[in-house]
Amino acid sequence: MTDPHFERRNGELFMEQVALRQIAERFGTPCYVYSRAALTAAWHRYDRAFGARRHRIHYAVKANANLAVLDTLARLGSGFDIVSAGELARVLAVGGDPARIVFSGVGKTAAEMRAALDAGVGVFNVESPAELARLNEIAGQCGQAARVAIRVNPDVDAQTHPYISTGLTDNKFGVPMPEALTLYRRAAELAHIQVTGIACHIGSQITTLAPFIDALARVMVLVTQLAQEGIDIAHVDAGGGLGIRYQDETPPPVADYVAAVCLAIPERYEICIEPGRSICGPAGVLLTRVEYLKDTPTRRFAICDAAMTELIRPALYEAWHAVEVVQTPPASVAALEYDLVGPVCESADFLATARCLPLAPHALLSIMSAGAYGHVMASNYNARPRPPELVVDGEHIHLARPREALAALFAEEQLLPPDPR
Ligand SMILES: *Cc1c(COP(=O)(O)O)cnc(C)c1O
Repeated sequence: MTDPHFERRNGELFMEQVALRQIAERFGTPCYVYSRAALTAAWHRYDRAFGARRHRIHYAVKANANLAVLDTLARLGSGFDIVSAGELARVLAVGGDPARIVFSGVGKTAAEMRAALDAGVGVFNVESPAELARLNEIAGQCGQAARVAIRVNPDVDAQTHPYISTGLTDNKFGVPMPEALTLYRRAAELAHIQVTGIACHIGSQITTLAPFIDALARVMVLVTQLAQEGIDIAHVDAGGGLGIRYQDETPPPVADYVAAVCLAIPERYEICIEPGRSICGPAGVLLTRVEYLKDTPTRRFAICDAAMTELIRPALYEAWHAVEVVQTPPASVAALEYDLVGPVCESADFLATARCLPLAPHALLSIMSAGAYGHVMASNYNARPRPPELVVDGEHIHLARPREALAALFAEEQLLPPDPR
């Protein structure tokens, strides 16, 4: 635990000034807990690193869309990166400034475009010729000119950076570089499109600077070509933020990342970034209690009350999360190797495998760095209610979202009409 917002006091794990055990006792498990101070510090790390350089930070809502999280960031003056009308509604619900919203995503529907135009979102990051044509048509119907950046796919070389898969030509994201110039020319001629920027996002959980630098170098080549044709761009959107440390990753400091971005983009362009994971990931934990310890001839299982329904990352990406016992048990409890699994009827339902932990009966565990792509990906599979979300703020505990009630899970479902006699 290197994050200053987490600390062990007399063997008990604290988030800011609150013992996590106290939260588990009061609100039950499983539950998500976020540190307001950690969210704030992470946002400020990006913001301050830019110094006097003109910039905008658009927090990627998809990483954690809880209103209390969005509110925390909106109060700091953050903008937002959204990928759906649902995320737009959430940002508007916390009073987020529509002019500071970027609408990303490969599959914007006509209805979503209308909602975004009505709200006055700052810019659409367009990902295909068909999307550009549709946006022009709908903006025309709305009597507007939609502000547009084209998201290009810089095809960052997989040989040099094999861990990136979303910045390559053969995936669905962005417009391939060779076609981008043509699309910009078309955009410049459309009546209801106003070209304002260029965007790229090469993937998530990137923990070295080289791919970002490579991608931006390619983007700037295109920007120069555009300028020569009289297509002037005001902002360059460098995409999502840095990866974070889950296990032994060593991402560069945010200041180094921002310095590299500032160096790659000439002064006259405003810089936008869209960090998600690095803002909210380290700020959150998932608390879960061990229900049973179960030995089999080959493995030792700790069956927890959290499952892939609460945190799907291990099942989906074989993601690794650190696990901490919330209360250090007496020395008589030996540390043994466990697979931490949930109660869901799937063999992929695990939170962590082969962890050496001293587990007393009903031990309370904290799954670390679970603030990003955690609750937002939770499901009701096995008719499990989604867990509550709490925000710790100094010594205060704020219930940001209650546990779903069982009755609410099917309250809107309807029985078939009665059978005819
Ligand atoms: C997912 C995503 C982000 C956020 O990425 P993080 O790795 O969470 O910082 C930003 N921009 C776009 C377009 C995305 O798809």
